[in-house]
Amino acid sequence: MSGAESTESNLQENRRFAPPAEFAAQAHIGSIEEYEKLHSRSIAEPEAFWAEVAEQLHWFKPWDKVLEWEAPDAKWFVGATTNLCYNCIDRQVEAGLGDQVAIVWEAEPYADGQPQVVNLTYNDLLREVSKFANVLKSKGVQKGDVVTIYMGMVPELAIAMLACARIGAVHSIIFGGFSASAIRDRVEDGKSKLLITCDGSWRRAKNVPLKANVDEALEMTDLIENVIVYQRTECEVHMTVGRDHWWHDLMDGISDDCPAEEMDAEDLLFILYTSGSTGKPKGIMHTTGGYMVHTYMTSKLTFDLKPDDPDELYWCTADIGWITGHSYIIYGLLPNRVRTLMYEGAPNEPGPDRFWDMVERHKVTKFYTAPTAIRAFMKWGDEHVEKHDLSSLKVLGTVGEPINPEAWVWYHEKIGGERCPIVDTWWQTETGGHMLTPLPGATTTTPGSCCRPMLGIDAAVVNSDGEEVPNNSGGILVIRKPWPSMLRGIYGDRQRFVQTYWEKVPGMYCPADGARVDPDGNFWITGRIDDVIVVAGHNLGTMEIESALVSHPDVAEAAVVGFPHDVKGTGISAFVITKGAVPAPGSDAAEAMKKSMSAHVAKELGPISKPDQIRLTEALPKTRSGKIMRRLLRDIAAGNEIKQDTTTLEDRGIVEKLQASG
Ligand code: ATP
Ligand code: MG
Repeated sequence: MSGAESTESNLQENRRFAPPAEFAAQAHIGSIEEYEKLHSRSIAEPEAFWAEVAEQLHWFKPWDKVLEWEAPDAKWFVGATTNLCYNCIDRQVEAGLGDQVAIVWEAEPYADGQPQVVNLTYNDLLREVSKFANVLKSKGVQKGDVVTIYMGMVPELAIAMLACARIGAVHSIIFGGFSASAIRDRVEDGKSKLLITCDGSWRRAKNVPLKANVDEALEMTDLIENVIVYQRTECEVHMTVGRDHWWHDLMDGISDDCPAEEMDAEDLLFILYTSGSTGKPKGIMHTTGGYMVHTYMTSKLTFDLKPDDPDELYWCTADIGWITGHSYIIYGLLPNRVRTLMYEGAPNEPGPDRFWDMVERHKVTKFYTAPTAIRAFMKWGDEHVEKHDLSSLKVLGTVGEPINPEAWVWYHEKIGGERCPIVDTWWQTETGGHMLTPLPGATTTTPGSCCRPMLGIDAAVVNSDGEEVPNNSGGILVIRKPWPSMLRGIYGDRQRFVQTYWEKVPGMYCPADGARVDPDGNFWITGRIDDVIVVAGHNLGTMEIESALVSHPDVAEAAVVGFPHDVKGTGISAFVITKGAVPAPGSDAAEAMKKSMSAHVAKELGPISKPDQIRLTEALPKTRSGKIMRRLLRDIAAGNEIKQDTTTLEDRGIVEKLQASG
């Protein structure tokens, strides 16, 4: 067996958390038996199943056929027309719910010591989105054109993306933390002619100069003909005459009448680039109908959303610049008629309790964040959590990376008050929406496992011939049947699309993550296929070694990679963020700490998993979405020069520090 096919799992996680009976009683899906019945049927009769979900949404024209499938190409809801913006806004207004709040926005800065909150109703959204859609048209944007959006987390970002969807323009949103070269690359890849930005955005009380970054990018490409600038921080900006326009000038006096365009179900909705954790980012394409149906259903089931419940307030802390923000702040939420909270800034501004203060003030019911954030909160200290009343919370979610059991249990106890089901959602930019996740009213969870396939998702763990492997042996995670929100390709690169996802296991979608299924039928993500380490013939999942390290009292976060080793073939190298100050390199304290960490891993997982090198550090190289970039760590551990794509790296300085420390 190759390294990709099997990971040895020694991790014994025996804790089980059943959904509280009271929660289960009110849930959309209230027992595992009910889930299993629905799931079996959804796999046996996928077209009937998805058609029933789709019928809950608005279509201008119904489909002739639910699915046309010839691997790797899927067409969903063939012949149907719809509009996602219409389903997000107009449908609610037409049902007489125009005064209901759709988006609750909170600014990062306080004004006179008071939080600044803006409530946008469906009526507000309809007016602003229609006006901005007319602005786009007035600048020559047509159906199918790619519009680049590079903004902070302001309501106008939601308005801009919905306006694109309304007129059938394809948005390509770039996270506001990226720099000029990332903007240039994405503008050129999408051949975009119009860009929407802000003067600046607030991040930890500092102005991020978005417009200046755009200016720098546009010196490197001349594709962009029009730049629309929303004024947020009132920082000084340079406006190029003829090219640059203020948002407020263009919106002034423009008509608010702009009917939603009738879009084919398979018309392109957006392009979005992956995080770049494992290589150069890929421009993932999503189309209208299938994406809408899948994000609608998964939002509702994963978070057990209650449409029209005036107390329901859902908060996803991701940035809209990531797929999580696309699917689970805006597109999946608004059609469910649930208030969605959007926060502008950093989790530690003005203090490390900002999130918990917001949960308390807004009475957030459903909360969705990332393991990297949870590990940061743990490091910052429980006192910041404990001073707030978090009793409004009902469901907690996590996404983005495997969550270490240690962090899971902390989340459960400290944030969830041991009362809230945790949904550990596994999915990707490519999958559009949730693929593996507990359902909060049905699934008995276990820390570190993303549990079961979503309804309609046929997931399995196989070897490279596509045969299912026995329980508890690691293998390759695959999705065997098409699903509505699957990617339709990599923009402009058919070959990379086919090679990346469809050739590893013929005929099946391969996300390049390793996994195993335990005897209860729960899935465990063991890490990226490329990250599996083969030590003296044993296949070790990096995830489990990292989790063992994180359960050591001095460890806040850990990343493990392989490196060439004379005797073993591959050695294990661990990069460890310490909870307290990093002891001086080479000091007795540092050596004692490393020894204790090694011994701890040996005790938890067996001596084979003991790291050969440990580097103690203050920080790790991460993507701007907060994921550890193990591919860079591999080069550092091996002592190689770094020649890879680093455009999505958050802080180059960390890499240099780690190189120097080796
Ligand atoms: P790139 O594809 O450019 O390397 P990326 O894979 O990090 O970047 P995303 O689409 O943002 O880009 O992330 C999807 C990946 O994140 C998954 O393939 C998986 O490895 C990881 N992931 C997401 N959610 C979970 C989860 N709940 N548990 C484990 N891993 C997760
Ligand atoms: Mg990926």
